[in-house]
Amino acid sequence: MSSTWHILGAGSLGSLWACRLARAGKAVRLILRDAERLKAYEAAGGLTLIEKDQAQLHAIPAQTAHDTTPIHRLLVACKAYDAEHAVAQLAPRLVHGAELILLQNGLGSQDAVANQVPHARCIFASSTEGAFRQADWQVNFAGHGFNWLGDQANPLAPEWLDDLSDAGIPHEWTPDILTRLWRKLALNCAINPLTVLHDCRNGGLVAHHCEVATLCAELSELLQCCGQPEAADGLSEEVERVIKATAANYSSMYQDVRQGRRTEIHYLLGHACRVASRHSLELPHLERLYRRLLEHLSARGLPCD
Ligand code: NAP
Repeated sequence: MSSTWHILGAGSLGSLWACRLARAGKAVRLILRDAERLKAYEAAGGLTLIEKDQAQLHAIPAQTAHDTTPIHRLLVACKAYDAEHAVAQLAPRLVHGAELILLQNGLGSQDAVANQVPHARCIFASSTEGAFRQADWQVNFAGHGFNWLGDQANPLAPEWLDDLSDAGIPHEWTPDILTRLWRKLALNCAINPLTVLHDCRNGGLVAHHCEVATLCAELSELLQCCGQPEAADGLSEEVERVIKATAANYSSMYQDVRQGRRTEIHYLLGHACRVASRHSLELPHLERLYRRLLEHLSARGLPCD
């Protein structure tokens, strides 16, 4: 197996991973959207990682999906709504037994990707690291965090985890990756949509304590029902803690809506509501929240999927 890291999507997280791996001497290839983006990237001369006010340029080679070199390891770093299509384009280049690491937030996109590439191993990741694009090809490492990785179909940890250690990417291999992803999804559902609808920072939800608590109770019911009791454990208390600890922050969904960007709602609250309906579980407050959010998005001309 080749040890090259192909990284699909040179946005915030993709660039953060690419720069750290390249800095540690690992072979990295970026896969960009099209020839036009590739030209713009080449004109910039590489990716710039800004960390603690220090900027460093990394001249990482890039290509488009049309390149023909085989891919053994692929970090999928695009948004959840782009992942299935982006990976489908690369399917012919993936060798048998190729490994994909899926960084998408929420749930639903991972299974859609896995269905596209039955000959590959799909590893799910949940990241609490924070990065944002200062400009094209410039990423700011804003929030230190952690990465959990796991494969529900195969508990064997891949050998390339050593590359992550060498690159200083904090991580842990876990058999319970779905529990992690469900917990993160539930936290997101309890906080992010309400910050959009109440037009407030996370801390503003202290004034809507009852609404938050009702949502947490329904989310806990959903997690129990879909075989994720551990993800339900102490959910309400953690939501309250997160609201207080991040009181001054605007949630990622709030920022997306504010800046007129497409949200990942379909893979967050949308996924929760679809799973509830599949289990014939009635969660009236969660469903009403979803409807209100969709109305809010369409009133602003933003996609609802
Ligand atoms: P982002 O900054 O919007 O980057 C996504 C990148 O994917 C963009 O550069 C985009 O290209 C590229 N892309 C889309 N379709 C493509 C295709 N077909 N071929 C090649 N490239 C393609 O997104 P992000 O913030 O890194 O988020 C990625 C995922 O990580 C999301 O699910 C997010 O929720 C999750 N996440 C992010 C953070 C964070 O701090 N940013 C933290 C935790 C989890 P263009 O530049 O050409 O548009």
